[in-house]
Amino acid sequence: MPESRSRFETVAVHAGAERDATGAIAPPLHLSTNFEHGPAGERLHDDLYIRLSNPTQRRLETALAAIDGGESALVFASGVAAGAACLQALPPGSHVLFADDLFYGFRALAPVFLPRWNIEWSAVNMTDLGAVRDALPPETRLVWAETPSNPLMKITDLASLADIAHACGAKLMVDATFPTPALLRPLDLGADLTLHSMTKYLGGHSDVQGGALIVERVDDLYTRMLQVRTLLGAVAAPFASWLVHRGIRTLRARMHAHSENAHAVARALESHPQVLDVLYPGLASHPGHAIAARQMSDFGGMLSFRVKGGRARAINTASRVRLFINAGSLGGPESLIQHAASVMHPADGIPDDLLRVSVGLENPGDLIGDLEQALG
Ligand SMILES: *Cc1c(COP(=O)(O)O)cnc(C)c1O
Repeated sequence: MPESRSRFETVAVHAGAERDATGAIAPPLHLSTNFEHGPAGERLHDDLYIRLSNPTQRRLETALAAIDGGESALVFASGVAAGAACLQALPPGSHVLFADDLFYGFRALAPVFLPRWNIEWSAVNMTDLGAVRDALPPETRLVWAETPSNPLMKITDLASLADIAHACGAKLMVDATFPTPALLRPLDLGADLTLHSMTKYLGGHSDVQGGALIVERVDDLYTRMLQVRTLLGAVAAPFASWLVHRGIRTLRARMHAHSENAHAVARALESHPQVLDVLYPGLASHPGHAIAARQMSDFGGMLSFRVKGGRARAINTASRVRLFINAGSLGGPESLIQHAASVMHPADGIPDDLLRVSVGLENPGDLIGDLEQALG
């Protein structure tokens, strides 16, 4: 939908922010847990009980569906809860194909819970479309991609992946937490669902947790995901919904600033003598650059880089930063750095000279100066 893409900022500012009877310009926050009904349970209003639905959550869901170009959206207590709800909603006996560098929370969940839910799974390098085709048994119901991936910044060709998934009767879900709908709209490229950790850029200020699933179309899977949320209860609190909705209204401007800063940092690192490699899809040297340039409107605020001198130099660099903060998570205004191999599972194949960076909204010259002094 190129037309709605060109109007993204307008949609993001206004969707779900319609004025109520008070005329308030900022969308209201309703904390009420319950809503009046008639003496025989007659429905008088849209909502009955907070776990089922509530007005603040509905405003956020309206905004999410609008910015992602989907028919509907479901929000959850966290990104992991949203992904788990999708997996739990699949028919028992389904096979799920994950990307091999899937977000580590889902990689941790899969061996523990998927056997209990009677779901088979396997993982493949999704930058290799031939390998994807060879990894799809007939029971496959879901192909789960993530692009750019964490922390290796791999780029997956979503339009091709959607064709491959659909040819075997599976749906394509894309975890688009890194790019957000401001930079990548998987549903426009043929995906059936998108997943967001709203804890990251959608909230955007490192102060709220949440997750969302946006569906291209309301169907059986959507109905079952809603049932999982209602009956198992991993719902978002109204205040969390309100904060994320507030974040969405400035999302486009923030994502452009994050992208501009990350690009500047990536270019500076690429020419630094102590840097071995820079993994940023905006650089022409990145193996996924051409696909990223085609399917994303900008390259985002996340990058990784490898230093010369191995693990010791990587940790030394992380210990010398003054402006960057050593922390996990991402997507806030402050720039973060993390020695990925120290915090992820050793089996994840993350090089021990790799530093992952969430580039914030500070002045890019200050960020580059800090990394240059830290690299020595
Ligand atoms: C953080 C993250 C998640 C999980 O979200 P939570 O809100 O932490 O549960 C999922 N996918 C990606 C890519 C993430 O970065």
